[in-house]
Order: sequence, then structure tokens, then C-alpha cells
Amino acid sequence: GSVMEKVLQRRSLRMRNMQRAWQESPEGKKMLDFRKSLPAFREKERLLQAIARNQVVVVSGETGCGKTTQLPQYILESEIESGRGAFCSIICTQPRRISAMSVSERVSTERGEPLGESVGYKVRLEGMKGKNTHLLFCTSGILLRRLLSDRNLNGITHVFVDEIHERGMNEDFLLIVLKDLLPRRRDLRLILMSATLNAELFSNFFGGAPTIHIPGFTYPVRAHFLEDVLEMTGYKLTSFNQIDDYGQEKMWKTQKQLVPRKRKNKITALVEDALTKSSFENYSSGVRDSLSCWTPDCMGFNLIEAVLCHICRKERPGAVLVFMTGWEDISCLRDQIRAHPLLGDPNRVLLLTCHGSMATSEQKLIFEKPPPNVRKIVLATNMAEASITINDVVFVVDCGKAKETTYDALNNTPCLLPSWISQASARQRRGRAGRVQPGECYHLYPSCVYEAFSEYQLPELLRTPLNSLCLQIKSLQVGSIGEFLSAALQPPEPLAVQNAVDFLKMIGALDEKENLTNLGEYLSMLPVDPKLGKMLIMGTIFRCFDPILTIVAGLSVKDPFLLPQDKKDLAGTAKSRFSAKDYSDHMALVRAYEGWKDAEREGSAYEYCWRNFLSAQTLQAIHSLRKQFSFILKDAGLLDADANTNNRLSHNQSLVRAIICSGLFPGIASVVPRETSMSFKTMDDGQVLLYANSVNARYQTIPYPWLVFGEKVKVNTVFIRDSTGISDSILILFGGTLSRGAMAEHLKMLEGYIDFFMDPSLAECYWKLKEEFDKLLQK
Ligand code: ADP
Ligand code: MG
Repeated sequence: GSVMEKVLQRRSLRMRNMQRAWQESPEGKKMLDFRKSLPAFREKERLLQAIARNQVVVVSGETGCGKTTQLPQYILESEIESGRGAFCSIICTQPRRISAMSVSERVSTERGEPLGESVGYKVRLEGMKGKNTHLLFCTSGILLRRLLSDRNLNGITHVFVDEIHERGMNEDFLLIVLKDLLPRRRDLRLILMSATLNAELFSNFFGGAPTIHIPGFTYPVRAHFLEDVLEMTGYKLTSFNQIDDYGQEKMWKTQKQLVPRKRKNKITALVEDALTKSSFENYSSGVRDSLSCWTPDCMGFNLIEAVLCHICRKERPGAVLVFMTGWEDISCLRDQIRAHPLLGDPNRVLLLTCHGSMATSEQKLIFEKPPPNVRKIVLATNMAEASITINDVVFVVDCGKAKETTYDALNNTPCLLPSWISQASARQRRGRAGRVQPGECYHLYPSCVYEAFSEYQLPELLRTPLNSLCLQIKSLQVGSIGEFLSAALQPPEPLAVQNAVDFLKMIGALDEKENLTNLGEYLSMLPVDPKLGKMLIMGTIFRCFDPILTIVAGLSVKDPFLLPQDKKDLAGTAKSRFSAKDYSDHMALVRAYEGWKDAEREGSAYEYCWRNFLSAQTLQAIHSLRKQFSFILKDAGLLDADANTNNRLSHNQSLVRAIICSGLFPGIASVVPRETSMSFKTMDDGQVLLYANSVNARYQTIPYPWLVFGEKVKVNTVFIRDSTGISDSILILFGGTLSRGAMAEHLKMLEGYIDFFMDPSLAECYWKLKEEFDKLLQK
């Protein structure tokens, strides 16, 4: 103990000397001056005191006021200054990996150090930290993983949970776990940071923890709602037919009757009328539902164009930020604007886009100053709402919608639909216009619509399937899943929890009494969705690991096949070349990855990706994930340490199909041949459609009776994403449950029939499965 103590004391002194030297250097002074100009600095003493005196503190302050970069740094600096630097260990979680990485980089620059010294980061598959790292930025998922093996967070002195206002699932989950931990770790400090003012909610959750608000320095922003916008721009809504309806035909017909054509110039009043609850009582239960018929973002974009013209002709200089729902809308509007005589003139307008998958070079342009007399217009998704700050924005155009995943517990289906934002988001969007001077915000919906928005967005915990989460709860050994989740800030519906538990039982991760099985324990070690974890384990059992490893890695990042809006067909053709006669998106992925590895060896990877519409970045991520998964499986003893992953059966196609099926079941659609085409049906949804990018969507006929798929999404109709054709025998043998009892039943039932309809290689596998699966469960 005391030797260690001395080492740490000596290191603390060294840290203090280095910190002082930097702060007294000219660059250090300049940096300090900048930091002192941030609003957070004025609250520094109050914050440090509150944190010293209370176990939990809630801090709120507008985006950009210095929460993330300053607060954890204040703690680090004051610990170092008091000669205790080497004794502290601060963790700050971020909802997104990109922010964990960029923030840690910024903070180490502010401290005049390279990244990985006193400040580091850790995200899935990547990290920069060393033995001197005392402030670590990580994703909330990483901290949760750490809690699995280190329930008391030994050695950690401070935990910051950032961006809690977003109500991400991991953050909500973390708060329950940390609340449970606090009594066991009286010395641990927890600081919650939020960009909105609803600190009360979090403070109450922690038994009335003190809250500190950092007053911001944003300028006032004037809000213009649709009624003013129409008047200001002179824009006339000529017909409701302009408005594409996201599957609300019945409602639209009704609305058209409510608004006779001859009165259309009095549109504002009428919309207001139509949107009152009483007009829609027959059609929907609440105002929020009835709102779904009003879709300003789909007015052929003409309204947005009119607003942009108005700004360019009549308004003072300043950048414009337009909030839209997704990349599709953004690229359509961009094309339309480029053809416009005023807005399309590059000498007057610099048109940029900002969305999740843009390249880094494109990202930089957004922050740069445009040439004089050129107006910068940025078309953005709601990414620009809080995670990215464009400083020179003076005008905001807000279409009022965002693409949001929701979860329909009743049908057990995730949905991805543009839906109305919350009042909090609308205010946040508006606030983006007031960073450098007073701004203007054009909301493209009537003020009565705004009044009907919900106050805050529904937390993610209530919008997603809970399969992975429930498995994690089980492996944390905190008792009953239902009870644990009922302690959440806003607990999910019991039906959603039940669906997840049923699912985990079905795949054999939980037994009848909801206890973790051996399989479940293995699955909780793998940082992927439980069904993909099972697919991996099946791959090891059947010595058919390599292709399965690629498939699981691919399904757990994102699709490496790019689909540029303007080259959809070329991209589709390129992808289908990888499929040949496999009738499988999953195998196309394997071939694409293998081709990329070959191309890399020959030094032509760049060309290969370009030619085949593949994302090199995603392929690289798949490559790293493959390594990580093999490592974990070897560590767990499921894969021989010296196993050559490229093993004997790897190229047995029916086996690969069988294992895909065993993982993705019950994602099964039947292929129904029609005269000239096919249709597809699932048990729960009836008819479903294939994503346009699926190789199976390009065939006239599919010679398999079934498609197995990993993911379905409801966008009006239910769509299935990647799919693979499978035979009857595969479905019978490899679909369905693998719990010990049910498996035995299953096998007994089939024993007499097996030779009749199976091909020999599958028969061999089948017996192997029986043996090895029993072995696995008995370990
Ligand atoms: P908050 O977490 O409250 O939203 P941050 O701590 O992220 O605020 O940022 C505070 C300020 O630091 C920003 O307003 C910006 O001026 C500055 N800043 C943050 N990141 C960078 C960066 N990478 N480069 C330059 N300045 C930055
Ligand atoms: Mg922040």
C-alpha cells in the first residue's frame, strides 16, 4: 500500500508541474483565455463546490456553453493542482462514438498534451489511453460493459453522464445501474449533464440532487410560424395534392373536404381549424395522431425554396440551416435548388449538406466561412440539432419533422417514420440561429401545431425492442428484469419487456424461470444483438466460422453496399454481381468482403470499392469486428486458439444458409410465386416487400420456398432488409428453438424422417449439432 501511495504521490507532483508549465506558456495562456470566455467558467467554483459536497449533481446549460469540454477538465485540473492528480480517475460518457473521440482530442489540445496522455478515449473497437490517463471519454455502452465485470467501478472517482436530455437507452439504463451503485460507493461522484432545462426530472430521480444551470449567451431568435411565413413570402399553397401523404390517404380526403378549393387562400385559418381536436375526433384519438396528416416537408419542397429565396433577397447576411428528415429529402431538395436561377448561382449561394454518412472533407466545409457576398445554406438532418454546432447560422428553417425509430410492442416490429419533433427539439432548432447575433427561425407549420407537439421526445427505452438490454440486465445479476426496469426514469411497457423475455427464452438464452443459461452467458459476452451472437456460436460449433463471422460483423455495423440516390440502379447491379445464383444478401456481403481482402493484397482496394459501390470505411470496421469477435470467442473457449478460421465446411453453402437461419429465426418469409413475379409473406404481417437494394428483389423467381431475414421495418408497409433463400429442410432443422428440452423434442420428432428429405451434408451437420450443442450446454 504505502509504496504504491508514494509512487502515486510522486506522479501527482509531476502532473502538477507539467500543468503549471503549460498554463504559464504563451500558447497555454491563450488557450486559458479562450476557456475563460465560455459561460461554464463563471460557474466553475460553484460547480466544484457542489460536486465536493454532494454525491450527485445535475448540470444544465445550452449546447456550446462548455459542459463537455470544461466540467470534467475542471475536476482534473483541481485534483492535479491539489497534488492528488494521480489518485483521481474520471469517466465521461457520450452517446455517440464520434463525440467521444472528438471531445477527447479537443480537451487534450486545451491541456497542451497529445491524446492518450492524461486525457484519452475508448469506443467500441478503438481507443487511445495510457497508464497516465485520468480523464477518459467513452461511449455509454463502454461504461455499461465495464459494469458487467466491475460492478463497483473500483478506482473510479467521478462519473459524468453527458447528454442525458437525449434520453438514449444506454443513458437511461446507466442511471438505474448507477443509482443502485451509489450507496455501495459513498465516495463516488456522479454528475449528470443536460442541454435542456428539465433538470428537475433527473434531480428527483436521485432523491432531490442539487441542480446547477449555466446561463448561456445566445441571442434572441424570432419565431415565425407557417401563418407568418406564408404572408412574408407570398407563397400560396395551391392544392393539397402537392402534399405527398405518408400513408394517410383517408385523412387527406377528409381534409380536402374540410378545405374547399375556393377558400384555399385563407389556408392558415383553415389548417388551424382542421387541426383542432374536434374536426378529427372521428378519425383519431388524439391531437398528436391527427397531426400526421400535415406534412410540410413534402410540399414538393417549394415552400422551403420560397423561404430560402425570401432570405437571400430580403434578409441581412448570415448562414441558413435547414432541418429536414433524411438524406433522401436532402438530396432531392439539393437537386431542385441547384436548378434555381437565384439559389443555384454558385456566386451567390454556397449549398452544403450535413448528414450522418458524410465524408470528413465535406464536414470541414460546413464550419468554414463562405466568400464575401456568398450565402451559406446547409441542408441538415437533426444531427445539426445538438451534436454539431455551426457558429455563423443566423437563419433556421425547420420542417418540424425528424426520422424516428419507434417500436410497436403489439406487433413486435420496429418502425422508421418521419414524425413530429417535440417542443424541446423545436426550441433547440430555433436556438441554433442565435449564436453570433439575433436570428430568425421559420417553422413550416402553424403555431397551433407547435402547441400540440409533445413536450419532450419519447425516451429511446420506450421506442426500441429490449432484447439486448434484457440480456445485459440478466448478466448484471440485479434480479428480475421487470423489477429492474420498473425503476427506470420512465419504465417501458410490460408488453415490450415480455416480448424481449419471450424472445430470449425462445433462443435458449434464458430458461423457464428466466435464469441465464450457459448459452445466455456466452451471448452476454458478445457485444452484438443476441440473435447474431447465437449465429456466431453456431458457426463455431459447425466449423463454418469464417463466412458467418463476416456476416455477423456486417449485420452489426451497417451495410457496406452504398446506394447513392442518383446511381441506385448501377449500385444495385454492382451488388447483384456478388450474389450470382446465391439468392442471398448475406452471401453477397461475404463475397464483397473477401474480394476486398484480395484487392487489398494487390493494392487496388480503393478502385475495388469505387467500382463496386462499397464503403471502404465500413469494410474496415467489419474487418476489425471480425478480429474482436474471434478474440472473445477464443477467450471464452468456444473457438480453438489455433483454429484456422477458414475451415473445411466454410464453403458448404447449405450449411451457411442453415446457420444464418438458426440465428435469424423467426425472421422467415414465405416466397409466393405469381405469374410474372413473386410476393412475400410473414406470419405476423401478411404481405411484406423487399428493400430495393436486396439482391433478391432483382430476380424474377427465387428457387427457394423461404427467405430468412434479420430485420424488418415498417414504413407504411413492412419491408424486409437483407435476406437469404432457404429450403424446407433447413427451416425445419435449424429454425425454431434450441432450448435443451425443446431441442430434444424436435430431434426425436424428426429422427424417423430425416433421411427422406435431407441432403447428406446437412444430415452430417444435424448429428453434429445434437452432440455439440449438448456439450455446450453442459459446460
Ligand atoms: P457543451 O458540451 O456545453 O455543448 P462544449 O464543451 O462541447 O460545449 O464546447 C464548448 C465550446 O468549446 C464550444 O462553444 C466551442 O466554442 C469550443 N469547442 C468545442 N470543441 C471545439 C473544437 N474541436 N475546436 C474548437 N473549438 C471547440
Ligand atoms: Mg456537450
